Amino acid sequence: MIYNVSGLLTGNLGDSQQHEIENERLIVGSYSLERINGSVRLTRIDRSVLVNAEVEAVTDNSCSRCLEPATVGVFVTMEEEFSPINAELVGSSGKLSNNHSAGDGDYYDPALIIDERNFVDLTEALGQAILGALPIAPLCKEDCLGICHTCTVNRNIILCSCAKISQDPRWAGLAGLLEKSAESADRQS
Ligand SMILES: [Zn+2]
Ligand SMILES: [Zn+2]
Repeated sequence: MIYNVSGLLTGNLGDSQQHEIENERLIVGSYSLERINGSVRLTRIDRSVLVNAEVEAVTDNSCSRCLEPATVGVFVTMEEEFSPINAELVGSSGKLSNNHSAGDGDYYDPALIIDERNFVDLTEALGQAILGALPIAPLCKEDCLGICHTCTVNRNIILCSCAKISQDPRWAGLAGLLEKSAESADRQS
């Protein structure tokens, strides 16, 4: 996902390029983002290039309930402005060119630069956008039963009877005691 934008930088405002993304893969941190498909539009705007991307991606994750593999799909739209290191290219009207001194408010996000060879690399920006869209607690399936807290079996595979045992009549006396102490605690408060 690296594009040469020399033509856009030396061209006119509003010029654009369209690129398709087909079955790409990105590694971001510990995540492997797979089967990335979609499109990217690069548009020349004043002194920079606006990148609009619409992609879908799939990531292999772990289910937050049962810890088995969970495949999660997301759809992401991204809009970011990439600024050229070669500011002279985009015309002498740009005041950025010879004046990068600190304190004038210029800030280059390293993920959002057009490098000295006029390439835009979407890896970091798009990777972060996809990561941000992933669910915090992925599930292998909507109704995953998770792991039993008592015997630690995966309850999607083995339906253990731990939940029933806790309702065993032999425990009823203890349950009753607990209820009573809860009631007395309520009265005291
Ligand atoms: Zn699960
Ligand atoms: Zn169990």
